[in-house]
Amino acid sequence: MKARIVAVAVPAPLYKAFDYRVPGEGPCTPGMRVRVPFGRRTVVGVVLEAPRAEVVGTGIQYKSIAAVLDAEPLLPTELLDLCRWAAGYYQHPIGEVLATALPSALRQGGATRIGEERALRITAAGRIALATLPARNRAQRAMLEALAAGPRPRSELDASAAMLSQATKQGWIESFVVDETPVAAEPAPALTAEQASSLALLREAQGPSTGLGTGFDVTVLEGITGSGKTELYLQRAADVLALGRQVLVLVPEIGLTPQLTERFARRFGGKVARYHSGMADGERAQAWLRARAGRTGIVVGTRSAAFLPFAKLGLIIVDEEHDGSFKQQDGLRYSARDLVIVRAQKAGVPVILGSATPSFETLHNASAGRYRRARLTRRVHAVAPPAIRLLDVRGRPLDHGMSAPLLEAIGKHLDAGGQSLLFLNRRGYAPVLLCHDCGWQAPCKQCDSRMTMHRGRGRLVCHHCGAESGVPVKCESCQSRALLPVGEGTERIEDGLRDAFPGKRIERFDSDRIRKRGELERLLEDTRSGAIHILIGTQMLAKGHDFAGLSLVGIVDVDHALYGSDFRALERMGQLVTQVAGRAGRVGQQAEVILQTHEPHHPALRSLLEKGYAGFAESLLAQRKQLGLPPFAHLALLRAEATARGAALTFLQEAAALLRAEGVALLGPIPSPMERLGGRYRAQLLLQSGSRAALQKLLAAQVPSLDDLKSARPVRWSVDIDPLDLF
Ligand code: ADP
Ligand code: ZN
Ligand code: ZN
Repeated sequence: MKARIVAVAVPAPLYKAFDYRVPGEGPCTPGMRVRVPFGRRTVVGVVLEAPRAEVVGTGIQYKSIAAVLDAEPLLPTELLDLCRWAAGYYQHPIGEVLATALPSALRQGGATRIGEERALRITAAGRIALATLPARNRAQRAMLEALAAGPRPRSELDASAAMLSQATKQGWIESFVVDETPVAAEPAPALTAEQASSLALLREAQGPSTGLGTGFDVTVLEGITGSGKTELYLQRAADVLALGRQVLVLVPEIGLTPQLTERFARRFGGKVARYHSGMADGERAQAWLRARAGRTGIVVGTRSAAFLPFAKLGLIIVDEEHDGSFKQQDGLRYSARDLVIVRAQKAGVPVILGSATPSFETLHNASAGRYRRARLTRRVHAVAPPAIRLLDVRGRPLDHGMSAPLLEAIGKHLDAGGQSLLFLNRRGYAPVLLCHDCGWQAPCKQCDSRMTMHRGRGRLVCHHCGAESGVPVKCESCQSRALLPVGEGTERIEDGLRDAFPGKRIERFDSDRIRKRGELERLLEDTRSGAIHILIGTQMLAKGHDFAGLSLVGIVDVDHALYGSDFRALERMGQLVTQVAGRAGRVGQQAEVILQTHEPHHPALRSLLEKGYAGFAESLLAQRKQLGLPPFAHLALLRAEATARGAALTFLQEAAALLRAEGVALLGPIPSPMERLGGRYRAQLLLQSGSRAALQKLLAAQVPSLDDLKSARPVRWSVDIDPLDLF
């Protein structure tokens, strides 16, 4: 018998598969892992194609596979196809795509046995303890609260081993085998009329059968915060579970959206699994294998869950579909949202894209008739959406960045028993340390940027590369001691609020303040209980949390969001303002949102306030169309960086000479907006085309050979399809 040859994808940044000889006569089929010699190492690769007979006399010397690791394909055909598609579409080496799709334990050749999955849950005695334990037992209470919201694996609880074993001895909590838990703990509420008609639309759109090969369909579920989207996710998930199929729920960041996960857990009990990068390797591999075995009904996961090998997928839900975290910004630069849509199309399952502020791409697809649209316009608990107003701060004195009317409004809401949230998406005390005598600004030594002063830590920090230094006492240029922190970060807002509202509990929610696991949850708990009066938040508070008592939201510097460095800046501004505003007024009093601005006549701000997000999006989309920008054109961005100035640009110039095709416009190459970052010089080349096919064809023909250019040697480069940021 002739020897058999197979193509194997190896984990390396190479645009091709490698052929190996198959040892023996056992099975070696696509999706199986194999251990192969590669260069001087041995690596774990994945078989891509069915073996073929070796052609004799070609003179090719094949290396042999050292071991076939799986008795059956670990990657189902559907997943392998998806990986191939992603490699082609994102112009990325297949071996690295597979590395994204497989959890690291399996990628390294780990075993595929599914272990017993255990989790902890609260008992009736535990619920009584929770009701009676004094407030000072904070850690215990937090642990019991977490479990009261639904069972959790031990590793996801922020509690010491000693505390858990004590609580177990007291009979407050117990460990159980997840697969054996009964389903459906909490009953579903009766839907509002609006919810009912949206649900009918979702069901009709997606067909009662959702059988493989029949049910592909995308529906945008558009609804302001509190309008009941999540409840519809739960009901659609219940439909699909009842058919014996699985549900994937993608969320932007699991830590920032604990409420969604908890609601699924409460409704569906042990049927809900999680999948995210915060999990230990072993746990992640187990979650992957369970999904593959069809043992999990619902997976709530972040980006990489888009690649989970579901045995019988029946529905995909993308929550906050507009969120930028669905796009990976390094390695395989994929959009998990876009990827699951392709996947759903291949697998014939429906998709729900939920958001209060759908992305312009999604809105465009809806108006082009590719997606259906379901709308929820009212909040379930009949409270009016907040009144949003612009506060013109031109000429007004600002105290720590805040004007008198803003501070007065906070005072008024505090007196009425409401909480306030001040939003500023900038950490630290001040973004610039300025010499009052000569104008010098403390620069980052590694980047074309300035250092942010952090007073709490007493350091200067570069928010671009992470470089740190002490705070200088003298100007480096003129030796003057007159150094002034200029501008505001969250620390400074906190200072200002402490002066203005002594005796009130003020908490800052940003990544400097919240470093430890569990810290965010504790602060959120204190917010809900009313113990915190004023919150200062960055991006961290912009999404996913309900604060029933929040009646005022102040956006300290909305202008900052007006001037991002690319064409999506205004879209993001509209999403951010709408999302942050949505935190307010879920229950009770009429809530208020105040935007401080120096640009009260800015057309985008006006249109957002006067027409709401939908109208705002429509007018900006009309502009995009005129300018030929996405979603009316397709982009690819080639980025390059090198330690020597000019090397990246030279490489991109040579690349540009190869990247010529009818219907594809080249913009650049140019130095990146921040040319030097972390000590490296960066440049970029933008490709733009009205035809996705033309762009794809050109890239597929040229990208794999760009590394052969001599000028590529000192350069690190990458290609970003459908880039979100143009820098
Ligand atoms: P969204 O996901 O759009 O923010 P949710 O689904 O979270 O909205 O609904 C907002 C609040 O209203 C939640 O507390 C939810 O439990 C509750 N809720 C949703 N639908 C109903 C309903 N039909 N009846 C009663 N309460 C509901
Ligand atoms: Zn100076
Ligand atoms: Zn820097």
